[in-house]
Amino acid sequence: MTTSTSPVTSTTTWQNWGRTVRVQPVRMVSPGSVDEVCAVVRSAAADGLGVKVVGAGHSFSPIAEAEGVLLSLDRLSGLIRMDRETRTVTFGAGTRLHEVSALLEPLGLGMENLGDIDTQSLAGAISTGTHGTGLRFRGLAAQVTGAVLVTGHGELLRIDADHRPELLSAVALGLGALGILVEVTIACVDAFDLRAVEKPEPLDAVLESLHERASAVDHFEFFWFPHTRTALTKVNTRVPVGEGRTPLTRGRRWFDDTLMANGMFRMTCGIGRAVPASVPWLNRAAERLTGDRSHSDASSKVFATRRTVRFREMEYAIPADQAAEALREVRDLIERERWRISFPVEVRFAAADELWLSTASGRETAYIAVHRVIGEDVGPYFRAVEDIMRARGGRPHWGKMHTREASDLSGQYPKLAEFRTLREELDPEGSFLNPYLRRVLG
Ligand SMILES: Cc1cc2nc3c(=O)[nH]c(=O)nc-3n(C[C@H](O)[C@H](O)[C@H](O)COP(=O)(O)OP(=O)(O)OC[C@H]3O[C@@H](n4cnc5c(N)ncnc54)[C@H](O)[C@@H]3O)c2cc1C
Repeated sequence: MTTSTSPVTSTTTWQNWGRTVRVQPVRMVSPGSVDEVCAVVRSAAADGLGVKVVGAGHSFSPIAEAEGVLLSLDRLSGLIRMDRETRTVTFGAGTRLHEVSALLEPLGLGMENLGDIDTQSLAGAISTGTHGTGLRFRGLAAQVTGAVLVTGHGELLRIDADHRPELLSAVALGLGALGILVEVTIACVDAFDLRAVEKPEPLDAVLESLHERASAVDHFEFFWFPHTRTALTKVNTRVPVGEGRTPLTRGRRWFDDTLMANGMFRMTCGIGRAVPASVPWLNRAAERLTGDRSHSDASSKVFATRRTVRFREMEYAIPADQAAEALREVRDLIERERWRISFPVEVRFAAADELWLSTASGRETAYIAVHRVIGEDVGPYFRAVEDIMRARGGRPHWGKMHTREASDLSGQYPKLAEFRTLREELDPEGSFLNPYLRRVLG
């Protein structure tokens, strides 16, 4: 990366984590100040180039594809200021989520909720609607109370309770289309621990009372390995910091997460790819090896896991009360088509929010995610699952694979036209657009 704003042609190829995007940008720039970001935007416009920020490159969709100027904000990271009274904290937009947690810990604060990894940048995570699980908790973007962005004119725009507050619900989850976020302010909560209980349970019984189960606890999710009858459930309960903490020992964490979850899983996925007929047997073996586990620790340590097996993912948001029926349809589909699917299906929940382009906008939401190991054809499986979800008013995760476009997304997002108008106001030349954003925004 260079901090130069002069048109240096890059010879470096960039690819995302899921290896679904590979691109050689015209140049890559890593500015060290907000003024430099403004200069990058202006010089790119003068050269007729688009500008895309790449956070951690963890989106599976080509939302971060940068053909012109690829901008990294890794140097615009860290804590900028905090307001103790309101428990709001402002970070450089490039701050990674695990850094956010580490910076909040000594302040006695934490993020209200997190997804299952914490490698993403704060700006990237909110821009795509990253979420965790829990019917009482909203996604990360709903925690945003303010932001500063660089518009397509290369100018700064502050948005918070005192400055154009009506735009916050768009800018907090802006797909990277409204400008370059340089500062993000989030509402934090008092630090808390999580008590995690993980156990295999009969899938049918879980589906029978799915909504009640999800409503009864703080954070509920489950994984289902296709070709098995078992759901691997996970319940996280919020408890005060330090209350009977029983963290996983380093050895147990290594055994469970590195060896069993990632190492063994990599091996079974490899065998399954070479010999697809073995997948049902391998999934049942994996199911048997995944035993009960309970532990408690600081929330950020329990929320986030490590993922070292690379995969591709599509995730759909549907009304929460339809989750069980939709999962049954996915199960029937896999059986009917006799597909061999080694990767588990994941089911999570979130509270409704009011953000214009949030997948949970206006409704309690269930998230159903399907995966395939890199190298396997996602086509028929993902397309058929997408049809199931579309019929249930499904909204695709903006950072995960899907085939939807503006014309059939507008029915799901009443504010899509308003978002488009705002985008044209903030970035009239379309500097922050790329092919994916043109497809989904129209
Ligand atoms: C292993 C794995 C696990 C995951 N787990 C979850 C999960 O639990 N829950 C969930 O919801 N999602 C999950 N995701 C998806 C992931 O959270 C999102 O795709 C997220 O956007 C990735 O953040 P990033 O920093 O990598 O952003 P990128 O993919 O680099 O960028 C995403 C978008 O944000 C824009 N952007 C980045 N920085 C800025 C900025 N400063 N200003 C304006 N726009 C910006 C980019 O231009 C792009 O449009 C997971 C992905 C992976 C690979």
